[in-house]
Order: sequence, then C-alpha cells, then structure tokens
Amino acid sequence: MAKTTPSSSRRVFYFGKTRTDGKGNMKALLGGKGANLAEMTSIGLPVPPGFTITTEVCDGYYKAGRKLPAGLMDEVHTAISTLEKELGKKFGNDSNPLLVSVRSGAASSMPGMMNTILNLGLNDKSVTGLANATGNERFAYDAYRRVINMFGDVVMNVDHEHYEVAFDKIKTKYNAKLDTDVPTEGLIELCHAYKAVYKHHTGQNFPQDPIKQLEHAVEAVFRSWMQPRAVRYRQVENITGLLGTAVNVQSMVYGNMGLDSGTGVAFTRNPSTGENKFYGEFLVNAQGEDVVAGIRTPLPVAEMPKWKAEGHPQIGKLVHKQLLGIKDILEQHYRDVQDIEFTIERGTLYMLQTRNGKRTGPAAVKIACDMVREKLIDEKTAVLRVPPNDLNQLLLPSFDPAAKKKATTLTIGLPASPGAAYGKLAFSAAEAVERAHAGEKVLLVRKETNPEDIDGMHVAAGILTSTGGMTSHAAVVARGWGRCCVAGCGAITIDEKSRTIVVAGKKFTHKDTLSIDGSTGEVMEGNIATQEPKLSGDFATLMKWADKYRTLKVRTNADTPADAKRAREFGAQGIGLCRTEHMFFEGERIIAMREMIVADNEADRRKALAKLLPYQRADFEGIFKAMDGFPVTVRLLDPPLHEFLPQDAKGQQEVAKRLGVSAKLIAERVTKLHEQNPMLGHRGCRLSITYPEILEMQVTAIVEAAINCTKKKIKAIPEIMHPLVGSENEIRLLREWTETTIAAVKKAKKFTGKLDILIGTMIEIPRAALTANEIANHAEFFSFGTNDLTQMTFGFSRDDINTFLPDYLNKEIFERDPFQSLDQTGVGQLVDMAVNKGRSVKSDLKCGICGEHGGDPSSIAFCHKAGLNYVSCSPFRVPVARLAAAQAAINSGKAAENRTA
Ligand code: ADP
Ligand code: MG
Ligand code: MG
Repeated sequence: MAKTTPSSSRRVFYFGKTRTDGKGNMKALLGGKGANLAEMTSIGLPVPPGFTITTEVCDGYYKAGRKLPAGLMDEVHTAISTLEKELGKKFGNDSNPLLVSVRSGAASSMPGMMNTILNLGLNDKSVTGLANATGNERFAYDAYRRVINMFGDVVMNVDHEHYEVAFDKIKTKYNAKLDTDVPTEGLIELCHAYKAVYKHHTGQNFPQDPIKQLEHAVEAVFRSWMQPRAVRYRQVENITGLLGTAVNVQSMVYGNMGLDSGTGVAFTRNPSTGENKFYGEFLVNAQGEDVVAGIRTPLPVAEMPKWKAEGHPQIGKLVHKQLLGIKDILEQHYRDVQDIEFTIERGTLYMLQTRNGKRTGPAAVKIACDMVREKLIDEKTAVLRVPPNDLNQLLLPSFDPAAKKKATTLTIGLPASPGAAYGKLAFSAAEAVERAHAGEKVLLVRKETNPEDIDGMHVAAGILTSTGGMTSHAAVVARGWGRCCVAGCGAITIDEKSRTIVVAGKKFTHKDTLSIDGSTGEVMEGNIATQEPKLSGDFATLMKWADKYRTLKVRTNADTPADAKRAREFGAQGIGLCRTEHMFFEGERIIAMREMIVADNEADRRKALAKLLPYQRADFEGIFKAMDGFPVTVRLLDPPLHEFLPQDAKGQQEVAKRLGVSAKLIAERVTKLHEQNPMLGHRGCRLSITYPEILEMQVTAIVEAAINCTKKKIKAIPEIMHPLVGSENEIRLLREWTETTIAAVKKAKKFTGKLDILIGTMIEIPRAALTANEIANHAEFFSFGTNDLTQMTFGFSRDDINTFLPDYLNKEIFERDPFQSLDQTGVGQLVDMAVNKGRSVKSDLKCGICGEHGGDPSSIAFCHKAGLNYVSCSPFRVPVARLAAAQAAINSGKAAENRTA
C-alpha cells in the first residue's frame, strides 16, 4: 500500500473542486489568507483554486539557515499538476497556460507588509499561449511585463524605478499619456526592455522555467517575513509567537481583461462607522493592487449597478447583487464583518480573500450591538468582540461645534478614520518621528503612505493624504490604530522638497497648524478647540453587558471632585487612589506647605499644618460628595518634601520673601532636603514616621470631612492608605496613630454615629509583598502600587528608563514596557504572593491595584486571575477597564459572583 503523509506533517494544502485540505480554523498553520481561502472554497464560494504552503515550512526555512526543505518543490509540483488537471490548463504552455499568484499570509493580518507576485508562469512561450487563449494579445503582454516587473522587484530587489524609466521611454515613443494608451506592439517592446532591465540589474536572464519562477517566488515570500518593515509592523502591533508566513499559490483570474472585468475591495459593513451597509471600492479593467495602491481613484461599490459593458448592459447590476448575496453568506458564516477582495473576469465574480475586517472603535461597538440585535452573536461574544483599548476612540475629543463653525475649511477629503486632530505639518515619516519626539504635535502629510511610513504615522496626531481611497494604506492602518486620518484630498498639492502644501490658494509650511476631522473629511486652518466625549447609545449598552459579566470592580484614580464626577459618569465604583500631595500645590496652600517644611520645630510645623487643614477638609468633602456611597481611598502624603520647594535661587528668594525668612534659610533647607536617590529616600510613610503631625492633620481632615458629609446625608466611605510601607512595625505604628486620631476627632466633634473607616497600605516595596502576612495583621486592605513595585522589583527608575528601554524592546529582552503592561512573571509573582499571604491571615482582606497598570487590559486580566477585588485607573480608562474586566471574566469562564469592594 502507498504511504500517505500524516496530515500533521502535510506541507502543502490544496483548495479547489478536486479537494480542499484546509479549514478556516487552521490560521496558525495556513495563515489567515490560506485558511479563509480554504474555508470559502468549502462553503461553495467562487474561489480560484490553488494551494497553501504552511507556516511550518517558513519556520523550517529559517531554522535551516534560509533554505527550502528537501522535497518541498516535489510536493509543490504535485499540487501544480492537480491544479492543471482541475483547470485544464498547463504551466508554461503555449496554448492555454496556467498562471498563478504567489501570495504571503501570516496568522495575523499584516496589510501590505509582504509581497505578492501576480501572473507567475509567463515566459516567452506561454505569453503567446495566453494571447491565443484569450484572443487578447495586448492583455497577454501587459500581464507579462507586470510579472517581469513584480518578480524583479520582489524576488531580485530590482528597484521599481528602473522599470518606470523604461516604461516612460516607451510611452514617449508611442505618444501615450496613460499606461492604457500604449498599443500592443509597445507592450511587446516593453517586455523586451523590462527583460533587459532585469538582466542589467541581476546579471541573469528572466527565468523562463515556471517551476523555477515559482521556487524563487516562494522563497521570496519567506524572506519577506523578516524584512525590516514586516518586523517593525509586528513590533508596533505587538504580534509575537508566530511561526512565519504561509505562501498561497493561486490560479490567476484577470480583472484587467477589458471593460467587462475589474477588481475591488469591500467590507460587509462600513468599517469607519459600523453602518450595516456593504461598503467598498472597485476599478474597471484593473488588476490586483491597483485599488489599494491609490494609483487610480476607484469608484464606490454603491455605484456598481451603473456599470455597463459592451454586450453586457446588466454586468454591474448582476455582480453587485451577487456581492450582496456573498455579504450575507460570509456574515452568517463568520458571524463578523468581513473585509474582502474580489475580481471580475469577463463578468464572472471571483473571491480572492476574506478576513475579519479591521474597524474603528465606534464601528466595533456599533457592529457588536447590531449583531446581537440581529441575533448573529450573543452578548458575551459582543463583549469579547471589542478590543478594550479601541474604546479610547469613543473617548476621544471631537471638535467643539462652535469653534468649528468659525474655522476656515480648506478642503474636504475622505473621512478615512474618525477623530479630531491638529498639528504642525510634517512631510516625511522621519520628520514626523523626529519632531514628535521633540515634543511637537504633528500632522503627517503625504501623497499616499506606504508600509515604510508606519513609524511616522504612529507618532503623528493625524494623517492627511492627497491621493488614495478609503481602503488605501493610510486609511487601513490609521483605522487599525484609531489614528485620525483624512485621505484622498485631491485639492492639496504637496511639495515634499520645499516642505509646503498649497490648498485653496493658500500656502502652508512645517510651521503652520491644520486641523483635520476624520469623521467628516474636513481639513481646516489653525487648531480648533476640542470637546469631551459622552458615554451613551450603543456604547452604554455594551458597557451594561460588560458590567453583567465582570467580577472585578473598577475604581478610578482621582484627586479632584471634577475628575471624580467624570469617572462616575464613566462608571467608576469608587476612588482607588486619591493623591493628597496635588492638593498642596494650589494658590495659598503651597505657602502654608512651605511654611511647614521650613519650620524647624514641631510647634511651628503644627501651626502651618493647621492652615492646611481646612483646605484638605474641603477637598475631601468635595470628593466624598462626588463619590457619594462609593469608597474613596485616600493616600497620605507620598513625595519627598524637596518637591515642594523651588530649586533655583530666584524661586528661593521669592519664597523667602513670602514667608518672611532669609533666602539663606530657604537655601539651607533645600540643601538639607537634598537626596541622592529621592525615590528611595525620605518619602511615603517615612514622612509620617518622622513627622506624625502630618499624618494627624491629614487624618483629621479626612474624618472631619466624613463627619460633615454624614451630617449632610452624603455617604462618605473613606479608606486611609499609608504609602511605601515595607515592614510590620511601620504599619503597626501608623495604624495606632491613625486610630487614635480618628477617635480624637470623633470625640472632639461629639460624633457618635457610624463611621466605617478602613485603614490599609500600599504594597509597592517588594519587602511588603514578601511579608504580606505580617503586614495584613494591621491592614484592612492592600492596594498594589505597581509603578513603584515595578521599579523596585526591576531596580530601574521609571523616569530614567527611556534611555535604555528602546534597546530592550528592540532586542526583545522585554516584550513590552513593564510600566505599561504588568510584568506578570516577575512583579506578578509578588502580587500573587501578597494576596495569598495577606488573605492567609485575613480572609476578607480587600485587594486592589492603583498603578498605571490598572487601565491596561492584559494587566487587568492578570488582576482578575490573581483574585483582586478591584482595579483603579484614570477616569478616561474606566470604560476600557470595565470591558477588559468583563472579557477576563468571560474568558476564564467564571460566573459573575459579585465580590464586595
Ligand atoms: P495583500 O496581502 O497585500 O492584500 P494579496 O496576496 O491579497 O496581498 O494580493 C494582492 C492583490 O492581488 C489583491 O488585490 C488580490 O486581489 C490580487 N490577487 C492575488 N491573487 C490573485 C489571483 N490569483 N488572481 C487575481 N488577482 C489576485
Ligand atoms: Mg489582500
Ligand atoms: Mg508609590
């Protein structure tokens, strides 16, 4: 019996009428494109047959030192034979040749990152075969010149420019303005010229053996996986852990066979707004990348029904109807929005690609809610569908309508990616990067962007292009990132060299600021005021669903009543971190604060503190009122005292004058407070240990505020938090003093009512985590200050990390900045340990996190697993955290049992 290869080691997966080996869920092995080509074939959609070489082969290629594995080309040959039989065409044949495309495709989509070769299989012989078979000589030579160009460019690194030069010569000779004006004999000449360009730059002839062409092309796709722009894209998008790219070899269909042919790209719903309307663009008589490349301006698919061709008056109507049918089939099958590529060859529609469509945050929310209403998905799926960080786009400011009304609109382009942005003009990606790093807000202005521009696009406040449609590179990438983008502004003339643009008869340079509205396409002069967003409609619905499934509470970090109020509107269930030091900076307060610092005895310090007390009390009252009924964790003074004094002589003189002391005294105090390592110095609870009267004043202010609120029927729930605790003895003492003060205030105020004030500590020093069982004896709650905990665990300062962090990321020592996403393997162990040790002595110990990580989705998933009661983050991240918490709960399959927080 013949040996069959076990499917696990199958390297080539066929898709077509003969058989289909792959499935839609095999993305890791077949790449997204390959898996979906197989899937579409299986559900009966019209897909040109072909085969996929797996990502494992790519992995093997690199492991073998960039060599194709032995025997692979034999398997490819077999697959080609199957293809030949199925289509009744032959590779390299002079009567009816088989042509193929060679396409990359990794498990995660990387739009435009890798190279595709079309029309492969053409040579001097088969080009006549193609001409005969199609009865269209011009088309055949057009296809041939394209493949010589693409193959040279992609496989042999022959610069596209050289081909352009050759083409221009021919165009001049035949007096042709457009490519399409060049007659057949011109294209035949062009093929000769292109082959000469190829030979000149590679030292070899354009390969005539189709199988050799194929082998080189397959290798080129594998190579493209590691080219810098692909590597960079994966970095920016945080794509890790993939084996490589698959290679799809697919029989060609021709959108460039005449006016009854065409090609297009579409989304089953509007990717910008989410509107449930088929949405896309197409070009008549065009091939492959023409739509995406922005060379010709495509027509909206909605206008397709008007398309008529000779002898085919219904062509547009029929194809359009067929596409709408396919939209439904695809959405029913994938239960998500699809982003498709299609080609029409002489009136027949073919599907070339489908994938889940990238969408803006607002579109993601609308689509998720719509699909629940349409019963395509359930609530849980809807909650999982929206990437939490994409909610930021719904929380983006928009232009203030009043300010916008007064603005001068210069032109209106395509609303490619929503949002409101303004910035000074930058004309290249490199310039944008440089100026953005120097702290400028820039708008990247380009004719059209390409994958090499992604760095500049990433740092720009917004992107503005003069050509290219809604599916151009700039538009697709900007939408993926939620970056504001206006595309296709034909009225703008860009002069990159002189760094100017001209629009509406006005000239603007790199010094000028423009505003762009990515939701309307407007381009306006100057910077226009923006306004805050609201949580309503579908956004509110999705949040309601999220709340149903999450078990983590979400609090906010807020120091002012205004922030507290905003956070509550966004759904915050309390304040997890109220920093008191910010309250010491405003107006008169800083003077009293400085008086306190300058004082050299307790009595004088108390005098100054007494002046601060009413301010603090009023602040707390405001915050308790805004958080009526929700807990507020107040952190006692944290930063080192020197931060409150000016370091320069002039500033010190002013302070001296104001306090009525000598400048010398202030200078002396500053010198005395100087520390080598202030972040590891006299700060946090160490201040209270040295100056218990500071603690006393702050606790008094908190308790008095709470009592005042209670009298006004406002439910104040303060939690007093001691920062930077590292040992049991510290917290024991701090707790004692805190309790004594609480009792004293109650007595002084003759307050006999109920006042539940929890006393707890931050866990931000590794030792606190290590000895959490001791510390928990004196704390009712732990709040993980993961900023300090991260810096102390790694032993590097958050403020100085930027000098070396880029190297750590580039060399993949770190996958992500540990200050942005919690280091779960290291710092995470300390969190886990502290929770477990703490709860071993106090089972109801309340645990939360108040570091920046509290708003980061992957860190939130960790917090869920670690069994924290809540996360706390900045007001604008509250919706993100609510959604991330729900996803964590759904993903871990936990039932929603509400813990108390
Ligand atoms: P990308 O990943 O950059 O979109 P693709 O592999 O999808 O690259 O191919 C680029 C373009 O070439 C697409 O517009 C696609 O529709 C077209 N194309 C690819 N294969 C074929 C084919 N077999 N016949 C016709 N057009 C093709
Ligand atoms: Mg594609
Ligand atoms: Mg801290």
